Amino acid sequence: MRRFLALILAAALLLPGCSAGQTESHQAVYLDVFDTVTTVTAVGMGEEDFQQAAEKIHETLLHYHRLFDIYNDYEGLNNLKTVNDNAGLSPVCVDGDMIRLLLDCRDYYALTDHAVNVAMGSVLKIWHDVRAAALEAPEKAVLPTDAALREAAQHCGWDTVRIDEAASTVYLTDPTQSLDVGAVAKGWAAGKAAQQAPSGFLISVGGNVCATGPKDDDTPWVVGIADPDGGEGYLSTLYDRDKAIVTSGDYQRYFELDGVRYHHIIDPETLYPAARFRSVTVVCDDSGLADALSTALFVLPLEEGEALARKAGAEAMWLDIQGNFSETPGFADYRAE
Ligand code: ADP
Ligand code: MG
Repeated sequence: MRRFLALILAAALLLPGCSAGQTESHQAVYLDVFDTVTTVTAVGMGEEDFQQAAEKIHETLLHYHRLFDIYNDYEGLNNLKTVNDNAGLSPVCVDGDMIRLLLDCRDYYALTDHAVNVAMGSVLKIWHDVRAAALEAPEKAVLPTDAALREAAQHCGWDTVRIDEAASTVYLTDPTQSLDVGAVAKGWAAGKAAQQAPSGFLISVGGNVCATGPKDDDTPWVVGIADPDGGEGYLSTLYDRDKAIVTSGDYQRYFELDGVRYHHIIDPETLYPAARFRSVTVVCDDSGLADALSTALFVLPLEEGEALARKAGAEAMWLDIQGNFSETPGFADYRAE
């Protein structure tokens, strides 16, 4: 619920002032994609045109939501769950968008020096299940065993992920392997939706923000970066004309045990929640890359993250667990305050 409120607050900040004589602002909110809150905002157009464009964005996001879902089946659709269910059994014929996402994920894996690995579904599932159980019954919360994590980590390589572009099939040859694209799917899908949207829209899928151009009066959008402690203020407010802005944090999904927080971003080296940062924000042109980088920079040591941001042409801001801020040299150019 705290996350929900933070997102609503962020959405509120996106709203331009609207009084008599000023151009009209529009916002649509969707709760049925990627298990989070999605907002679509635009200024200065007819309500009907806005609704039409917003619904198209929503349809696009729904398409990706179903395709990349690892928990639910959809009639007549081979999605990521189908691919996982068929590990070790047979190749699965999939929509070309799945092939494109997975090829990008393979690139992100190489680019981030393996810090972002969507092929480590076996490890992520262990953490997902203990978190779900702990949230259901906090008094019975337990940690995964090291042995279980280490065993799962044997099934996270890309050699066993066979992507056949020509046949449009994906096959996990290792029966215990699974894919989980949670680290990149929202940003990737938001980016695709933004590419199809008219100029001057701001799309936020659970805080993965994408602007398709400035507001109708050529002023930039203002995007608030949530305070990890859930306060009403923001860590920072940023101008956005046509960039993707993505934040990864330790406050989004977690459980607590003996006073320690176990959140949802897992360091592939330790197989435990990444322990360096509380929040990392990335600004760059490509929304899928921004999402992958936000997770990668959350995992990697600061110096490696700085080098990666430079290599990827991204700007970033880190808040570490001691409360210290760091940022890339160009990040200040986006600051609104
Ligand atoms: P959010 O989805 O909350 O915006 P992220 O983009 O950082 O946050 O993605 C976190 C999700 O990605 C987790 O729920 C998990 O499914 C997956 N994940 C966590 N750690 C990694 C990792 N190192 N590599 C790939 N996927 C990860
Ligand atoms: Mg991410």
